[in-house]
Amino acid sequence: MAKRDYYEILGVPRNATQEEIKRAFRNLARKYHPDVSQEPDAEERFKEINEAYAVLSDPEKRARYDRFGHAGVEPGPAGGAGADAWRDFVDLFDLFSEFFNIGPSRRRARPRRGKNIQVKVTLDFEEAVFGTEKEVTFRRREPCPRCKGTGVEPGTSPQVCPTCHGQGQVRHTVRTFLGPMTQVATCPTCGGSGVVVPYPCQQCRGTGQVETTVRKVVVIPPGVDDGYRVRIPGEGQPGENGGPPGDLYLNVRVKPHPYFRRQGNDILLNLTINVAQAALGAEVEVPTVDGPAKLRIPRGTQSGDVLVMPGKGVPKPKGGRGDQRVIIHVEIPKHLTPEQERLFQELARTLGTEVKPQGRSFWERVKEWLSA
Ligand SMILES: [Zn+2]
Ligand SMILES: [Zn+2]
Repeated sequence: MAKRDYYEILGVPRNATQEEIKRAFRNLARKYHPDVSQEPDAEERFKEINEAYAVLSDPEKRARYDRFGHAGVEPGPAGGAGADAWRDFVDLFDLFSEFFNIGPSRRRARPRRGKNIQVKVTLDFEEAVFGTEKEVTFRRREPCPRCKGTGVEPGTSPQVCPTCHGQGQVRHTVRTFLGPMTQVATCPTCGGSGVVVPYPCQQCRGTGQVETTVRKVVVIPPGVDDGYRVRIPGEGQPGENGGPPGDLYLNVRVKPHPYFRRQGNDILLNLTINVAQAALGAEVEVPTVDGPAKLRIPRGTQSGDVLVMPGKGVPKPKGGRGDQRVIIHVEIPKHLTPEQERLFQELARTLGTEVKPQGRSFWERVKEWLSA
């Protein structure tokens, strides 16, 4: 198919001024922009208009086009655009971004790591002790399903950057008092990538990503406690420009248990026994996180004594488990049956009436316990 004449496309005479060309382009671009136009061939027309303007707005290219036609302005490294042309182009894209709320995707060259995501996870006491699997829900940017993450509207393709012709750099000459100097700068149109996306994806607006609700089953290791953070590498926000993704952090909350408490890797349990069990010793059944277990109460156990059940605590990260520590409370009966009354009277006779101040060892035990 023969290419249409650029002047004809823009509807301007061959001797049109730069101002007339710019005005014609703006009017046509508004009319045929694929996002707003109702015309059936809007997309084709819009491409044509862009191409015509890229050439006719550049005095150097326009001169070559006037002399050689389309053959004089085929895109390629040889046809370096002048400084004014790219400045116009940038202005125009700025105008576009404002007008249509879109813009060419300008890729930043530097890779950047994605941001971390924080999620709150609430666990039962036993789940925290032994670890578990939990489904968590959070928001994360995912590759756009419409454009498959490319940012390019399906059916269109990225194009060689009209400003730098794919080189990613622009040269322009600055007059200084030492004479003209050539400066090389990153192309402002494409940000150095050498390509532009004239039709950004309509769903993600060219970013290639959409915010999505993610459901994920995460593994909570054994031994976590209230306030712990569990890091799941690589499950955070995606990186930019090929940078690595961020991490997902689970902020752990542990619900209180009706009778267990945590102290590091140990589990504390308060246990009330009666005065006879304390004096004579006994074997009782107590709850542990592994289920009911036997505990031997030695003869002469005092209120405040701590009995240790080794290995019944919380799994440690490097193997092994903490202990369960049972804090004993000896209950003195408030009401006695006639028979108990008789037995205590008898007991009182054998014990005599001796009263002595609280033994030092009791307070030492309490202090030792509190500082443990
Ligand atoms: Zn998209
Ligand atoms: Zn460029």
